[in-house]
Amino acid sequence: MPHPAPRAQVSIGGTTVTYLPDGHGRLDPAAFFPPSAPGGWAPHRSHLDPDGWFTVSIGSFLVRTADGRALLVDLGLGVVDFSIPGLAEFRGGELLDSLAAEGLAPTDVDTVVFTHLHHDHVGWTTDLAPTPDGTAGRAATALTFPRARHLVAAAEWHHWSGTADPAGPDPRAVQQPLAERIAFVADGEVIAPGVRVLATPGHTPGHLSLEVTDPAGRDGRRLVVLGDVLHCQVQVAESHWTCAFDHDPAQAVRTRERLLAELRDDAVIVAGGHFTEQVFGQVLPVTARRAWSSPEPALLGR
Ligand SMILES: [Zn+2]
Repeated sequence: MPHPAPRAQVSIGGTTVTYLPDGHGRLDPAAFFPPSAPGGWAPHRSHLDPDGWFTVSIGSFLVRTADGRALLVDLGLGVVDFSIPGLAEFRGGELLDSLAAEGLAPTDVDTVVFTHLHHDHVGWTTDLAPTPDGTAGRAATALTFPRARHLVAAAEWHHWSGTADPAGPDPRAVQQPLAERIAFVADGEVIAPGVRVLATPGHTPGHLSLEVTDPAGRDGRRLVVLGDVLHCQVQVAESHWTCAFDHDPAQAVRTRERLLAELRDDAVIVAGGHFTEQVFGQVLPVTARRAWSSPEPALLGR
């Protein structure tokens, strides 16, 4: 049975990338990966729990550079525990404990970068964690990471402005408190030494991934924090599976195929924040499948 991934860390030169758990979700796979995966789970049953449900890890990646910078990529669920009967369950609330275990307080975080603004990536933005049943009557009083600059793609910020989509951020918990603080980043921008933004749209209009390299150039490897370009290890092979929350499913597939082709390299470590058991791994080369070949004339005789 797949478990939510625990803390794990990879070093790229003098930079460390650490997965900090916040919580997890459990989802009905048929609802989450609709018709793109008809009966498609059969070879992948080991990725489902005994109830036939699909688990996702939910957390944040802490990037600490050799010059003392501390960045968080995504902010988990926040302090929530709720279910959408028959569809999904979400539980979060561990992120600050996970951060403290690394010896850091919220005020030590100098940058927050959002891969996108779905509710499971923005939960710790303020002291008001978004839930689907609403947060009526309450208001956020403070940002959780008060000294951090908060970064997102402009297309992502504008896409969710003025919407009330339950998959997106609660405006009172995210957009309103960040309105004066949010700053925009674009494809190729370097936001800390060796940390570069990659535009990976499709799951959402302004979706970003992050690439981490050694700014000193001594470590030739690179690490890519996917965001939700892939939701599970199964999509490495089943890259055509689209998720019910993909804004533009065709674009999401194109982005996934492009990135998977780029990442199929011994020198690349991939970080999938929703992957179970272990968020870090590598994409192996495509292996040959059985194929048909018409006979050479000599084979058939006369
Ligand atoms: Zn997500």
